[in-house]
Amino acid sequence: MTYQHSYARSIADPAAFWAEQADHLAWYRKPLQTLAENADGTHQWFADGRLNSCYLALDHQIEQGRGEQTALIYDSPVTGSQQQFSYNQLCDEVARLAGLLRELGVKKGDGVIIYMPMVPQAAMAMLACARIGAVHSVVFGGFAANELALRIDDARPTLLLTASCGLEFDRVIEYKPLVDRALQLAKHQPRQVLVLQRPQARAALVEGRDLDWLEAVATASPVAPVELAAADPLYIMYTSGTTGKPKGIVRENGGNAVALSFAMRHIYGMQAGDVWWGISDVGWVVGHSLIVYGPLMNGCTTVFYEGKPIRTPDAGAYWRVVEQYRVNGLFCAPTAMRAIRKEDPDGELLRRYDLSSLRQLFLAGEKLDSSTHQWLETTSGKTVHDHWWQTETGWPVTAPCVGLDGSAARPGSSNRAVPGYHVRVLDDDGHLLGANQQGSIVIALPLPPGCSQTLWGDHQRYLDAYLKTYPGYYHTGDGGYLDEDGFVYIMGRTDDVINVSGHRLSTGEMEDLVARHPAVAECAVIGVHDEIKGQVPLALVVLKDGQDIAQAQLQSELVASVREQIGALACFNQVRVVKRLPKTRSGKILRAVLRKIADQQPYTPPSTLDDPAVLVEIEAVLASLARVG
Ligand code: AMP
Repeated sequence: MTYQHSYARSIADPAAFWAEQADHLAWYRKPLQTLAENADGTHQWFADGRLNSCYLALDHQIEQGRGEQTALIYDSPVTGSQQQFSYNQLCDEVARLAGLLRELGVKKGDGVIIYMPMVPQAAMAMLACARIGAVHSVVFGGFAANELALRIDDARPTLLLTASCGLEFDRVIEYKPLVDRALQLAKHQPRQVLVLQRPQARAALVEGRDLDWLEAVATASPVAPVELAAADPLYIMYTSGTTGKPKGIVRENGGNAVALSFAMRHIYGMQAGDVWWGISDVGWVVGHSLIVYGPLMNGCTTVFYEGKPIRTPDAGAYWRVVEQYRVNGLFCAPTAMRAIRKEDPDGELLRRYDLSSLRQLFLAGEKLDSSTHQWLETTSGKTVHDHWWQTETGWPVTAPCVGLDGSAARPGSSNRAVPGYHVRVLDDDGHLLGANQQGSIVIALPLPPGCSQTLWGDHQRYLDAYLKTYPGYYHTGDGGYLDEDGFVYIMGRTDDVINVSGHRLSTGEMEDLVARHPAVAECAVIGVHDEIKGQVPLALVVLKDGQDIAQAQLQSELVASVREQIGALACFNQVRVVKRLPKTRSGKILRAVLRKIADQQPYTPPSTLDDPAVLVEIEAVLASLARVG
């Protein structure tokens, strides 16, 4: 199968193409209906198929003779522990945890929130939910109580699973007080909270509500996987939209399994028995697709890493893991490689390790700048691939298909569209643009299997956010262009979403918080360029008349508030007081102009600008930014 041939077939006849791909899966009942269109423009994949994602990831692998193969390697430089689970062992653990969930009253279709650090129990919790048809929603441990509460109220979980603490290289972060606070803030209350007590910090349990995980699971009886419909939801993954309310992306069991089976083999070139390392946190989509479901459903060994690219203990940490476990392929975000490069620019640490097992590296989550790309290829001697996807799609939209001889690369491009994705570029009026013309990147419907077709509890919001702008197309929210050979170049978001260290954050949400400060009359939060993190937020604030709060004081109060409400992951550290914000005559803040000024890029003041003099002051205030930030 060649890339060109597969791609052409997937676009010309998506149903036939994906029916063939679905044949690779061990369904309980093979789907006879591959693709159907709903009246609102969304699609159903494999409507009559029946399967179980946990069965595919564990039991089926054992039936294929992989019971004694290592399924999951836990490597935790922050605690000094390393542990390996065979497929047999992981399946036993998951089956008993699933039994416990059921004893605690969790039923098919119930929501379960998982708020955990990178410990193997987080993966077990996801798989245990999948086993009994519960819908998990993993919330990244770096989110503050308020963000957790928002997700609790939206997902309405029956049960919440957590751990007593997470660990950074230099400190213990207690999770339980955050959970307790979130439950005070949330309207919805889960019936019970299951707490994994870690030796680094023991959490106080609330009588009648909280249970000790290890004690409870010790007496639970294992349960078998249940049969689910392809369209039954496997998980909800919240991601930032342009408002403060996160969007609950819903992933279906059937499409997800077919898509990840295709992606692991044909994009990442992984075979059963290979060692794969998805470097992320289970709290992100990468953690779902490339740490848990993708590698396990394809019989790989997955590395589960509780550490950082640097300081655990040094910038050689990734290379140590590659050598120790003979990793064959890895995924990570560019920000991690930029951090490693800063500390090990000449690759001295890298050269201490044997990287011969590693075939290639895949980077995504934010723009891969060409300097980091080149540095990584030169120092590692490996091919480094850029590829582009989103929480919504759940798997790559553009990528090299190394398993399909489609790995030709072009500098600055995140590669060509993957089979199944009909990527196009439109202008503001929805007209198709030609090669090298920049506009909104869209995907012609139908989206391939695996992509979210709704938002949890709010289907209309899905239609409004993704399908309404350009009828017949899915709106990615990214701008860019395609060259004459179909290579895609992503230039960045066209909305008010920024990307900090590969994490998507809403500037609108931060503006809401900043505007709540009593001294603030109005504000704009924009993403500005950062050498390591890609982007970081910057708040420009206009004070209310008569307020004489010092900038430093205001900054420290606002930084504390964003940290408290959103979390440290927002990297919100910079506030500048200005007299006025540049606006259009109709009163819209010109954020795009602000971004250009902050990044010291040339710009043309728009003709709709209310008062050009305001830009002179903004330029003066922001001139020092690059050096200060
Ligand atoms: P998330 O849903 O958090 O994974 O973020 C998805 C967004 O990250 C995309 O819409 C892009 O804006 C950005 N992104 C992901 N991968 C890339 C890439 N390879 N190049 C440029 N931007 C990317």
